[in-house]
Amino acid sequence: MSTIHLQNLVKKFGDFTALKTMDLAIADGEFMALLGPSGCGKSTTMNMIAGMEEPTSGKILFGDRDMAGVPMGRRGVGFVFQNYAIFTHMSVRQNLAYGPKMRGAAKAEIDRRVGTIAEMLQLTPLLDRKADRLSVNILQRVAIGRSTIMEPAIFLLDEPLSNVDAAFRAVMRTELKQLQRQFRQTMVYVTHDQLEAMTMADRIAVMDHGILQQVGTPLEVYNDPANVFVARFIGAPGMNLLKGRPAESDRGLVIDLGPLGATPPLPAGIADTVRRARGEVFYGFRPEQVTLVESGSGLSMPVSFVERIGARTIVHLGEGETAVKAVFENDVGLAIGQTAVIAPAEPSVRVFDAAAGRAMRAG
Ligand code: ATP
Repeated sequence: MSTIHLQNLVKKFGDFTALKTMDLAIADGEFMALLGPSGCGKSTTMNMIAGMEEPTSGKILFGDRDMAGVPMGRRGVGFVFQNYAIFTHMSVRQNLAYGPKMRGAAKAEIDRRVGTIAEMLQLTPLLDRKADRLSVNILQRVAIGRSTIMEPAIFLLDEPLSNVDAAFRAVMRTELKQLQRQFRQTMVYVTHDQLEAMTMADRIAVMDHGILQQVGTPLEVYNDPANVFVARFIGAPGMNLLKGRPAESDRGLVIDLGPLGATPPLPAGIADTVRRARGEVFYGFRPEQVTLVESGSGLSMPVSFVERIGARTIVHLGEGETAVKAVFENDVGLAIGQTAVIAPAEPSVRVFDAAAGRAMRAG
């Protein structure tokens, strides 16, 4: 069984705590992305799973085996880093064959495995090229091949696509996912790029400042962020968050947004929770879930900027604490200085406790 359990995992460097009490269960064959901004502790977590760093406290289990003191070479993990690690004086074929050869595999078996991996990673025409003549893109592909050919039950990738160019990155996202489907490895993938995490991972562990913020499927973290950090971090642009106070109205509980006026009434379930808690809240809604409505039936805001990205239009509204963005799938004909009246789609509205930053849920 290639499950991975992190239990109360802590890593300190001197006085600095890089990882604070992480608990995470990764299922056999699961593709788990560790996602977060620079310095949040992703690589530290990965290095401990790999056996390159010892935890300060807590446990790492592979299946029911405690990994404490087990060196990297005995953990049965494949590892691919941001910077490809390959032998540049060797050909692609020799690089791919290196691991199985060291393990004493028979020549016919090595040839078969090299052939399969090269085909999967589109390296067949390059097999006899010397690695020092190849682009960074191809070298990273070879590095992935070198790890994959060992058929590790656990495959760890730390920002493997951050040095390859954008077009190649898109191709590799698909290929890595296919590779994982085919080999059914347990995959842990460190990235700060949410597009990579959202498109490839079965689940995403979102981290910030050494703290695990939320674990969920890409849609769960997008639709139901556990807190304000995840709400802002996931999505491009992130969720809009407007601070306000709950207020009763004849239509039900609304959020008084000060100069912006009141929101539409909150759905019944969440309204009860917000009513009980009383304090200030953030009224959250996704930029993609906004429609333009008649004056008087939504939030009226000045247009401060318009970005047209191909078919998509991102309209920036308001400024400072009341700045929000709205994304439209076509050109809605708004220009800087005009006033837009927007209404968030009710099912997408989320409310957060402003003091604690936590999502408030119905029930
Ligand atoms: P990045 O994408 O920038 O690598 P990350 O999320 O992977 O970010 P880590 O590399 O895990 O972050 O680092 C987490 C924190 O721990 C950072 O503040 C980093 O400076 C610190 N850190 C990491 N390794 C060491 C070390 N050996 N000694 C001291 N501090 C360290």
